[in-house]
Amino acid sequence: MPICGGRRNTRFPPHVGFKEAPLEKRGKNRKKRADLLLIGALVLLAGALFLWQLASRSDGAVVAVYVDGERTASYPLDADTTVTLYTPDGGSYNVLVISDGAADVTDAGCPDKLCVHMGAIRRDGEAIICLPNRTVIQIEGGETSGVDVG
Ligand SMILES: [Zn+2]
Repeated sequence: MPICGGRRNTRFPPHVGFKEAPLEKRGKNRKKRADLLLIGALVLLAGALFLWQLASRSDGAVVAVYVDGERTASYPLDADTTVTLYTPDGGSYNVLVISDGAADVTDAGCPDKLCVHMGAIRRDGEAIICLPNRTVIQIEGGETSGVDVG
């Protein structure tokens, strides 16, 4: 790879050098080109995988908490934690559990407990809503589920 790269950079764009090469060398060059292509493809693939991992993992997905429409807190989705979110008047609460890249309300002081039964959320835009507590817990950023959104 370094050899070919060096040569390539000296004078000609690669396709020109290839055309001018004598016939007997052509086969050799072609083989090298194939190797280069293969290596290039592998490098690209590795790079893409790396970027994809970066994007899907540490893209800064957060669990945002809204009370009365106001954002009161946010937690990184990739850090396991358990927090109790009290309503402003202190009369009720939601227990928010973040683990394995998902957020879930496991307990709440609201009468209907709908938020508890909603299950875990993990994708951008998904939310757990607790109407009695006027609390919304929402995933923001990170893993945009290309499958669902298209
Ligand atoms: Zn609730």
